[in-house]
Amino acid sequence: MSDTNQKINLLGLSPARMEEFFASIGEKKFRAQQMLKWIHQYGESDFSKMTNMSKALREKMADVCEVRLPEVVYEDISADGTRKWVMRMDGGSAVETVYIPEKDRGTLCVSSQIGCALDCSFCSTGKQGFNRDLSVAEIIGQVYVAAMSFHAPGERRERKITNVVMMGMGEPLLNFDNVVDAMHLMMDDNAYGLSKRRVTLSTSGVVPMMDKLGDVTDVSLAVSLHAPNDELRNQLVPLNKKYPLKELIAATNRYLGKLPDKRKATIEYTMMDGVNDSMECAAQLSDLLQQVPCKINLIPFNPFPNSGYRRPSNNRVYRFRDYLISQGHVVTIRSTRGDDIDAACGQLVGRVEDKTRRSQRYIDAVQVEEQKPGKML
Ligand code: SAH
Ligand code: SF4
Repeated sequence: MSDTNQKINLLGLSPARMEEFFASIGEKKFRAQQMLKWIHQYGESDFSKMTNMSKALREKMADVCEVRLPEVVYEDISADGTRKWVMRMDGGSAVETVYIPEKDRGTLCVSSQIGCALDCSFCSTGKQGFNRDLSVAEIIGQVYVAAMSFHAPGERRERKITNVVMMGMGEPLLNFDNVVDAMHLMMDDNAYGLSKRRVTLSTSGVVPMMDKLGDVTDVSLAVSLHAPNDELRNQLVPLNKKYPLKELIAATNRYLGKLPDKRKATIEYTMMDGVNDSMECAAQLSDLLQQVPCKINLIPFNPFPNSGYRRPSNNRVYRFRDYLISQGHVVTIRSTRGDDIDAACGQLVGRVEDKTRRSQRYIDAVQVEEQKPGKML
């Protein structure tokens, strides 16, 4: 192979690492800030066009580094404005990223791994097993591609992406360092400048890593609960056998306690017909969550072939929600978006060919006031 593979990919350098890089070639800190702006705000990957750097520096950089972007192999846009990209990563595996526009925000759902080792029984990403971690460049590359899709190269981009949720493929806390570096880029003013409240990491409950996360960052936290007791959660989320509910709830509270502001956790609860959607479950969930400052996000199950689960009727979902609300909880139902482009939550498997499946897209933390029968909006 050519020497390109040995060049440092600046796309994947966090602000701190970018400074280290420029220091290593004898340059000052502010060069790192300039470079972050060129890459992440202007979408510029050609050093010769970075005119606020000297010609000598630009030539030096061209020798040792590059801005290597993920290859977009498939892109689709739904009638409702939801967009999906499939990006080919180093090594050939594909990863999916979804953008969901709403009235007052635009949310990007980002993947952290190819596949997932945790094997939750209702998740098609889990069903495909674990392939590998994504690099920082591959994680932030998803944000880059989405952000740049809204503007012409070389122009300063508009802020179409206001929120990022680490809810695509993979368990972000099992790719800790790369996810944390990528989130630092999302929040850096020279890169994407997102508020820490608007970057959300979703975990199925890797307790020790939740503690570690609270030591290094203060993004918002979503916890994928899905069951109100250990017996049921052991079946749905096998990781529960290692870190049972009591420990998970305690870790969630420890994380919230480390945040500098008062913020709630989002509790995700994927609802499966006849499995975890009974009123008994609602009552148990309500009791359990009295101990945590949180908002509850109900996610009606997204079917996929041979999953063995069904989505509950809208009435069952509403009944469950209404009970929780009556007990004083803040509850939302994740809305369905992009159902014509196969951009489904928990169904992201990086497929390009299979466009026959029609599926639904649920997004996080959406206030769903308006409900339409048949299709949740
Ligand atoms: N691994 C992390 C983040 C990725 S999964 C986690 O589990 O939190 C993102 C969310 O999608 C999780 O809440 C997950 O439970 C949910 N999900 C997975 N499969 C789903 C399905 N088939 N239908 C609806 N939601 C699903
Ligand atoms: Fe992994 Fe999350 Fe899917 Fe569970 S729900 S298998 S943790 S991606």
